Amino acid sequence: MANKNEERKVAVELVDLKKYFPVKSQTLFGEAESVKANDGVSFKIYEGETFGLVGESGCGKTPLGRTILRLEEPTDGHIYFEGRDITRIPQRRMRPLRTQMQIIFQDPYSSLDPKQTVGQIIGEALLAHKMYKKRGDELENYILDVMEKCGLDDYMIHRYPHQFSGGQRQRIGIARSLALNPKFVVCDEAVSALDVSIQSQILNLLRKLKREENLTYLFISHDLSVVKHLSDRIGVMYLGEMVELGGAEEVHKKSLHPYTKALLSAVPTTEAGSGKDKIILKGDIPSNVRPPSGCRFHTRCPLATEKCRQEIPKWEEVEEGHFVACHHHEQTKTLGKKT
Ligand code: SF4
Repeated sequence: MANKNEERKVAVELVDLKKYFPVKSQTLFGEAESVKANDGVSFKIYEGETFGLVGESGCGKTPLGRTILRLEEPTDGHIYFEGRDITRIPQRRMRPLRTQMQIIFQDPYSSLDPKQTVGQIIGEALLAHKMYKKRGDELENYILDVMEKCGLDDYMIHRYPHQFSGGQRQRIGIARSLALNPKFVVCDEAVSALDVSIQSQILNLLRKLKREENLTYLFISHDLSVVKHLSDRIGVMYLGEMVELGGAEEVHKKSLHPYTKALLSAVPTTEAGSGKDKIILKGDIPSNVRPPSGCRFHTRCPLATEKCRQEIPKWEEVEEGHFVACHHHEQTKTLGKKT
């Protein structure tokens, strides 16, 4: 029987993608060292889906989002957008693709130019990409249309970012990205800087826009509770590598990786008697300049054995569409159970 994902159109595909950042230090033998932000990441994002990417801060989620958009140059591997290899095409040839591949940034305070009005902020990219030739009524009407879709009133077009609340500024950031009619949008911690009550408004807006504009999202967050409500599929990253990937429901209810299970156990729940204990991970996230041998998670994993310290676990499909890299994934379900 054919895998149902095989019939879907692929928006973005990563094949063994690596992004290293050089650091000043050297090894004893004089070799240059680098931060391995992404170290061989492969997955597909299907058209029309929301792919949630989750992991602690420093796991490589943000560099991955930026590298996919070629805002950072990849070190190795391949990035395909709608089947086209865009890994090494010159930046001038990326320019037409910039309208189709957009980003919504984490910090609505610093991502908007304080000296520009909302109309100028949204209009600037439209002019730069020659979607409109000049400022005027036609451009203004289009900007007002986009603002309305994003829940911003007409009178706001002449106001400056400092005159808005955090949630409204994030709506402006979203309007700026969506004005270009993108197909694929990286939402990089798009609600993390906002109060919880505002977060849900922005998440609802992102959901509505995805439906109306037929968008594909890569939704990056350190917060699994946010990711699990918005995503169709979820990828879990640890120290530059993908450790689990599957349908949102499967990853949530039948986590295969101890790290995913630990992240989930930290999510507050209102379910009475959920029967789960919080899984406390040992120590801090190790350096990704010299990551641990074998399984990179072994220094913190409650299930780690000698094999984990020695051998890199294989990436395997345990159930259809549900992948994990763990030697002892069948024991993960025993974690966090109250005794
Ligand atoms: Fe833990 Fe070993 Fe699985 Fe790594 S391979 S997650 S150390 S049990």
